[in-house]
Amino acid sequence: MTKVSRLPVTEVAGIGAQRAKHLAQLGIYTVLDLFEYLPYRYEDYRIRDVHDAAHEETITVRGKVAGVPAVRWYGRKKSRMSVKVQTDGVWVNAVWFNRHYLKDKLYPGRTVVLVGKWDRHRLQLTVKRSLFSEKEQKRLLGRLEPVYSVSGSVRIEWLRNVIRQAFDQFGDDIEETLPPELIRRYKLLNRRDALYVMHFPRDSRDGHQARRRMVYEELLMFQLKWQVLRHTRKKRLNGTAKNVPLDKVREFIKALPFTLTDAQARVLKEALADLQQPVAMNRLLQGDVGSGKTVVAAALLYANYVSGFQGALMAPTEILAEQHAHTIREYLQPYGVDVVLLTGSMTAREKREALGMVQMGLAHVVVGTHALIQESVHFHRLGLVITDEQHRFGVNQRAKLREKGEDPDVLFMTATPIPRTLAISAYGDMDVSTIDQLPAGRKPVKTVQVKPNQFGSVMEFIHKECRRGRQAYVICPLIEESEKLDLQNAYDVLEQLEPALQPYRTGLIHGKLPAKEKERVMGEFVSGKIHVLVSTTVVEVGVNVPNASVMVIYDAERFGLAQLHQLRGRVGRSDEQAYCILVADPKSDTGKERMRIMTETDDGFEIARKDLKIRGPGDFFGVKQSGLPEFKVADLIEDYRVLEVARQDAVKLVNSDAFWEEERFRPLREQLEGEDVLYRKNFD
Ligand code: ADP
Ligand code: MG
Repeated sequence: MTKVSRLPVTEVAGIGAQRAKHLAQLGIYTVLDLFEYLPYRYEDYRIRDVHDAAHEETITVRGKVAGVPAVRWYGRKKSRMSVKVQTDGVWVNAVWFNRHYLKDKLYPGRTVVLVGKWDRHRLQLTVKRSLFSEKEQKRLLGRLEPVYSVSGSVRIEWLRNVIRQAFDQFGDDIEETLPPELIRRYKLLNRRDALYVMHFPRDSRDGHQARRRMVYEELLMFQLKWQVLRHTRKKRLNGTAKNVPLDKVREFIKALPFTLTDAQARVLKEALADLQQPVAMNRLLQGDVGSGKTVVAAALLYANYVSGFQGALMAPTEILAEQHAHTIREYLQPYGVDVVLLTGSMTAREKREALGMVQMGLAHVVVGTHALIQESVHFHRLGLVITDEQHRFGVNQRAKLREKGEDPDVLFMTATPIPRTLAISAYGDMDVSTIDQLPAGRKPVKTVQVKPNQFGSVMEFIHKECRRGRQAYVICPLIEESEKLDLQNAYDVLEQLEPALQPYRTGLIHGKLPAKEKERVMGEFVSGKIHVLVSTTVVEVGVNVPNASVMVIYDAERFGLAQLHQLRGRVGRSDEQAYCILVADPKSDTGKERMRIMTETDDGFEIARKDLKIRGPGDFFGVKQSGLPEFKVADLIEDYRVLEVARQDAVKLVNSDAFWEEERFRPLREQLEGEDVLYRKNFD
């Protein structure tokens, strides 16, 4: 059999050297690459009834031209042409931009097929493609046409044709990668058929089956990679088994001003057990905002210190790093632990000093931003690394960190509420601990929505809380006035608030302030000198001022649920009642739903679930930001059950001898080898 994975594309009839070069620019070198170059969507040429079409959906309609097109000109080049088209019972207003030359083809009574974006309020179709000839209509109607991402000199139409040609010549040589038992168990299409249908589906049922197969394959490969890595890591025992004096850790916990919640105690125990294992810890710690992750981090840093190692805590922003340094110092200094801060904006001299302390081992715990993983930082004896809000760190940064020490224990903390099962499957190689409980006595933050014109009463409310000795945050989406967006901006808001809140003091903080200034303002807010802090979203993650009881969010409809929840988490961090006031435009549809959810529940995981329900695959996790993986075919949210099934299958496979030895698993092993996971990296 021909190995399509080694066959150059020039073997396909119609592809010469020149064309091959163009294909190479798309990353297509072999015939198999061509087969695996999947469309990212399909043009749907099935005739639709406009009654069923959603607003802004792209649809195909058929109808009779009724009347003569009207053309309007904007300057010499831009035109807008419109004509009524009578479809099945509905008169549609069809609109073309800059395509006036089609006018003659649109004579009254002619049957046309139009593809375009549907505006269901105005019964208007903005046409993207018009099919006039019967021949063309016949060829395309009822079909799903693949759309590929192309660039340069490659045209979609041509690509479609050569892929078809490649199937004719070499389709039968496509090798199955999955073992027969898995294909049987999940009733999957074989690889050749699945790939063919991905390119040329007859209908959506057909397409669904093909996608199901490709999704499973992709997710199984993903999970296999993690499981193999995990498997070999455990085998190599390359971490350091720390000899943790547990009695000292117990004393530390006893001396805390509060009792740990059961969830905190459990999570701490899980992580402490990791420190004592000869395998490096690789653990994700999830906990809703305010659940008390920081003290768990402090206890672990202490345990690491009394075991004789240096520790590092990494935060996504300078504000947060400074605050963490402050908090960790408070917890650990009484025990003789030296905590130093290392951020990008420190002066060269300050940095040099800190670096020296780190290198000589005089600093026991280093707290910092990304600056921590730069080349110039040399640790003395790094044993534990903790990152806060890990989703802000890319995969590469994580890897860099791990290289800093002799494979230190690593704990990733996050408040992004990812359902546990999804977290376990998506972060393949990590163990997951969850703090699913808030400290006792916390009252849910009372959340209300108000209209922008009710701001007077909001101001009064802030004033009242200040009189009771409390503090408030006021969040705005922008810093300065913007012509484009009519959003409240921080400087404007500050100007309005300042006089109204007398005698209480206001302060302003945003991402563009110099670090020293940020530090000063934040410091004054922490110490209570500033009562009301006007801010952009820089306070979003992690800032902890328990005395603050009011969170006002301007233009709340602009924020996603996750962000709103994070912002709200800045208050309600003591046993006093706290409030969140969402100033939102009542006319925004998406906003309405989000505000409803925010006023109904306070539970991050519940919010995540509801958001999933409304939007399905969504920005909730902000996949790019979250560090969650991205896939070619699979969708993390939609296919999340498959992700879990694939994980279980991968675990079973990797732990079986058959997987490593038998012929029917050879294609999978070869793929892992190709991905650099097997042999080369792990068995040398
Ligand atoms: P997050 O998980 O959002 O990082 P923090 O660690 O900042 O939460 O903790 C939020 C607040 O709760 C802090 O003021 C902290 O001192 C307090 N806290 C943490 N654990 C407990 C507990 N077990 N009992 C009472 N208060 C606690
Ligand atoms: Mg925190």
